[in-house]
Parts: sequence; structure tokens; C-alpha cells
Amino acid sequence: RTWGWSLAGELRQAAARDPGRPAVLDEHGTELTYEELLDRAERLARALRAALGVQAGDRIGVLCRNHHGLIETIVAATLLGVDAVLVNTGLSAAQLATVAEEQRLRVLVHDDEFAELVLGLPPELHRVDERAHAELIAGALPGELRPPERDGRIIVLTSGTTGSPKGARRPTPNGFGPLVSIIDRIPLHTRDTVMIAAPIFHTWGFAALQVSFALRATIVLHRRFDPTATLAALSAHGCDALFAVPVMLQRLLEVPPPDPRPALKVVAVSGSALPGGLAPAFMDAYGDVLYNLYGSTEVSWASIAGPADLREAPTTAGRPPHGTRLEILDDSGEPVPGGRVGRIFVGNEMLFEGYTSGATREIHDGLLDTGDLGRVNTDGLLFVDGRADDMIVSGGENVFPSEVEDLLARLPQVREAAVIGVPDPEYGQRLAAFLALHPGETLDPEAVREYVRHYLARFSVPRDVIFVKYLPRNATGKVVSRELRRYYG
Ligand code: ATP
Repeated sequence: RTWGWSLAGELRQAAARDPGRPAVLDEHGTELTYEELLDRAERLARALRAALGVQAGDRIGVLCRNHHGLIETIVAATLLGVDAVLVNTGLSAAQLATVAEEQRLRVLVHDDEFAELVLGLPPELHRVDERAHAELIAGALPGELRPPERDGRIIVLTSGTTGSPKGARRPTPNGFGPLVSIIDRIPLHTRDTVMIAAPIFHTWGFAALQVSFALRATIVLHRRFDPTATLAALSAHGCDALFAVPVMLQRLLEVPPPDPRPALKVVAVSGSALPGGLAPAFMDAYGDVLYNLYGSTEVSWASIAGPADLREAPTTAGRPPHGTRLEILDDSGEPVPGGRVGRIFVGNEMLFEGYTSGATREIHDGLLDTGDLGRVNTDGLLFVDGRADDMIVSGGENVFPSEVEDLLARLPQVREAAVIGVPDPEYGQRLAAFLALHPGETLDPEAVREYVRHYLARFSVPRDVIFVKYLPRNATGKVVSRELRRYYG
């Protein structure tokens, strides 16, 4: 066996070709070169095998924020042919226990800040905190690592927006193709310096890590996203690119830009819809550098909008990259005529290989149902209207929360807005708008309704207008509508 294409394979190549190049920089000034990062990952792999008896076929959970320890653990797992389950740092103790059991984890590598969260896990699950992680690396005995008998898989958990998180097996990419499809559309270059602010445990942050390794990029990581610290780091390290989720861009716009402003060439976001107005505002402040990628844990990335697309149509998700099929189908699986809304189906060589839990999603004719509704306009630009399950049917009319949210977010007093459907005796469902206002601002609910009535149909007007301090978001920045529903008991 040889070392196949994997994160470990990429790291080996980078360490061989560019050993002294800084691979990871963090907020405390720690810097590891590609050679050092590989050495640490190899030591960790040997120690996990020798000290904890970890072997091919086992599963290691990784509950870490963005820092080099997370990368070392994933690479060590791959080196051993062990599956790495990337655990969302926003899980509750109960969800974590379910994940640990369903995924049959043998070892859980976790940041110290999660010490309390992991307390209730079964004692046979071996926990490795930051000190134990450092000791394993320091105490590793020399030895050779041979290519394992099986490839270690990366298992990414879905966000759990619509239920409990499901483990999705990512395929080992078949060569460089899938990465080329992204680099083909986004001007990233070998040896760029990039900041990955999106969490690496999520499919988008992980994709950013794969791309960065393939480019032998220098990767800047902060454990937590803080807009001021992010802007300062982007300037200080001369970052070429930032990988983020949309809400982070909103936060960056709320703080004064540093002097000099970061000279970014690429800001790539994915994971949730770009609220209307955000793309132009961001590009006015930081230049025409924004890329919006539509994708999911199951399909990886399916379409990309570049700065010119976003100038023309600020909420578009763009066009599919080379090698990806994207079709809008109706309920009977027939293509819907141009411009009409239907279900988004995607086919590419990056489709996931199934859930680990037995849950299923059917793939027909190479196409996977994304569960999202959307449309493609006459220029071939995709617009994602949202999840089919989130569509509100009020008085027999269909309303997409995103359309109303976008409109509400344009009110100058509104910092962010979310809309859900709640049961209504008369209309089946009615709209409830949750608004977080900018500090010191006030709004009258009737004025909000009047404003929406001016632009949208009567059935799109939220009957309930609720003011909140902030919107509940998960670790990937998505609004958790389940939490909003709690308002109604
Ligand atoms: P779960 O399946 O557990 O509910 P999830 O689907 O929220 O979790 P992800 O796979 O991270 O977890 O989310 C993918 C979904 O996020 C897509 O199906 C789509 O609804 C939304 N999404 C991602 N990127 C974009 C984008 N650029 N524009 C609009 N929507 C997006």
C-alpha cells in the first residue's frame, strides 16, 4: 500500500517540498512549520498506538476549536487508518453522549474548555485533554509508521439544525480534482497566507483546511472568532484569504477597520445564506473579493458565486463548479422550467458516502436531494430559497423565511432578523419575526408590518413581531429556529 490522497498525504508532500514554511500560526504567537507539524502528528500517531492501543478501524472523536492540536489529531488518525469524527463544539452534554455512543468512539481528544462537558461520558472512553495531548507527543518513542491497511475516514457531523447531528462519511477525494474545482473558481495560490475562521470541525472549515494544505499555505487560526482580533491578524500576517461563515462578515462590519486595512484577495463564505445587503456592504468596505459557496455536509460544495455575480445579484449562490451537476426538479423528479422554484439536486464526485447512523438520503441517477428549494435565473445563477422543511404555508400560500428576513434586515434599526412559521388556528401557519436591534434603537411592531406590507404580499407579513437581544446561533453561525420556537412553548 502507498499513502493515498488524504490530509496526511498532503501534509507529507508539503513537509517534503517546503519543510521550513510556516504551516500554522496562532493568536499566542506559536508558529509551526510544515516539517514540525508533520513531526508532531507522527509522534501523536505513534503514541496513540503505543500508549492507548489505538489501531486501524477505531474511531477517535475530536472536540476542538481551531488550533494546531486539532490538525495534529486528524492527521494522526489518518496516519493510523483510524476514523476521525469531527465533533461540533456547540453540542450539549447529552448530544455529545449520543454522538460518542453512536460513533463508538474509543478516544476523545478535547480542548480543556470542554473538561466539564466530557465529565459524564462513559469511563471506558479514553479522554485526552490538552496536557495529555502534549505529553503523548513529547513521550512518543521513535518508530516507523507504515501506510495503514485501511484508509482512515473523516466523519463530519451535520449541524443538527433539523434534528440531532448525523455523522456523514466524507469520501477520500479521488485525487486532486475536487480541490482544483474550487481553486479554478477562486483565485487562491500556492504559498498564500490564509485565515480559517470557519470552524474546522464543520464541512466548510474542513474543506478550507484541505485546500490550504494542498496549496502549502500558511494557515492562521484563532480558537474563537473575535472581529477585532481577526481584522488585526489579517493585517499583521498579510493574509491573502479569509474562510468564514456569513455571520462573521456581519460582525466584521460592526467594528472599525484597522489601519492599514487588510489587503485581502479572497473572502470565501459558506454554510448559510448571505443575508441581502451583506455582500455589497462587505465589498464596499473590503473590496470586490467575496465568494459565496453553497454546499452541505452531504454534497460538499455545489456552487460558487464570485464578486461580479454578487455585485449583480447580492444573494446568489452562483454557478456549479466544473464537474458538478446541479438540477432543479419538481416533486415528480422532472426539471422545472427556468426561473421557477424547485428542489435542488446535486451530483459530483464529492457526495458523501452515507450516514454512520443508518439514516438515509437517496441518490438517484448520481443526484442527491439537498432538501433545499431554489431556482436558477436566465443567467444561470442559483438562488437558494432555504430548506424545504422551513417553508411556511400561511393561508395556503408559500412563504420563504429568507425573503422576509432579507427585507427586515434592510431596516436601519435592525441588526439581524429571523422568521419562522408558527401554528395558527385560522391560517394553518402565521409568520413570527424575531428582531435584534442595534443598540439604542427601537421599532414599533405595527411599523414593521406596514413596511413589509409595502414590499411583499399580504401573506408574507409577520403577524407576530418579537424583539430579542440576539438570535440564537449554533457553532457554525446558523440561527437555530428550534430555539425560537421555544418562545411559543
Ligand atoms: P442538519 O442536516 O443536521 O440539519 P445542516 O444541514 O444545517 O444540519 P450543513 O450541512 O452544515 O448542516 O448545512 C447545509 C445547509 O446550509 C444547506 O443545505 C443549505 O440549506 C444551507 N447553506 C449552506 N451554504 C449556503 C449558501 N451559500 N447559501 C444558502 N444556503 C446555504
